[in-house]
Amino acid sequence: WSKGTVAVVTGANKGIGLGIVRQLAKEGITVVLTARDATRGNVALESLKSQGLHNVNFHPLDVASQESILALAEWLHKTYGGIDILINNAGIANPDKDVTFETVKPVLDTNYFGVKNVTKALLPLLRDDTPGGARVIVVASIFGQLEHLENKDYVKTLSDREHITEDFVDSFVNHYLKDVVDGSQKEEGWPNWTDWVNSGVGRAAEPYSVSKVAVIAYVSALHNTLVAQPGSGKKINVFSCCPGFVATDMNNNRGTKTVEEGADTPVWLALHSPEEGIGKFWTERKVVDF
Ligand code: NDP
Repeated sequence: WSKGTVAVVTGANKGIGLGIVRQLAKEGITVVLTARDATRGNVALESLKSQGLHNVNFHPLDVASQESILALAEWLHKTYGGIDILINNAGIANPDKDVTFETVKPVLDTNYFGVKNVTKALLPLLRDDTPGGARVIVVASIFGQLEHLENKDYVKTLSDREHITEDFVDSFVNHYLKDVVDGSQKEEGWPNWTDWVNSGVGRAAEPYSVSKVAVIAYVSALHNTLVAQPGSGKKINVFSCCPGFVATDMNNNRGTKTVEEGADTPVWLALHSPEEGIGKFWTERKVVDF
């Protein structure tokens, strides 16, 4: 890897995202640290520079804002011409214990539509001469494994990884949002986290879980789309992964792994891009069941 390799990381002012930037920068890659808040982003940038990592740049990015996404794409194009690696890391948990449309919508907008919109906007910038192919990594979660879905029809369709489409994933998410409005999540078999109430996670995990099912499925769908369009001349390898249970603000630092340990699998996928696991879900550097 060299300074000519460019990686972009979302939600990178703290937590796992900052760990990912640090590890990629140590490889000598040029890394664009993005954050929705410029002050927090620049503080993170300065902390890396004080550790001797000068091959990091900052640009604002709110993944829930199309305007912000397009501004980043334009700046990347002007500054670097193209990019080699995109790591979609930004994510939020449901900030509220209640599951209402108002509390759920930001979770889906950030964790699903945000990933999809950033990826779509930056796909044209992915280079066609990255050795082994350009890479897109999505930081998902084991909360997005299909075992959490009680709706058997969805489990059946989403298990058929090679035939998942982007439209189907959109319809899956929009169906969930409609059921939240109707209050019919239980009957429709959405992830039921009532057993987790005492663990402090509780129903707040429901929209988070749906969002992570959706991004894991989206990665397979995007891979299917890319394979179906070999004529584009570009090789783009997409992966989803879980970082493990990592001590960050998201879980009030209850996680058992450090941020550096959590960053390991996403960074490893970005650097190695294993052919046998493209489009699949990974954790601990291994493919696991969706
Ligand atoms: P943190 O809460 O520490 O960090 C989340 C990051 O995402 C912050 O930088 C936050 O910015 C950013 N972010 C949130 N919303 C947006 C937005 N709209 N636009 C841009 N950035 C945004 O959490 P983690 O580091 O733990 O989480 C990183 C990823 O790892 C998430 O996708 C999470 O779901 C996933 N994950 C984490 C696990 C864990 O155990 N920690 C386990 C499994 C998956 P700000 O500071 O401005 O809020």
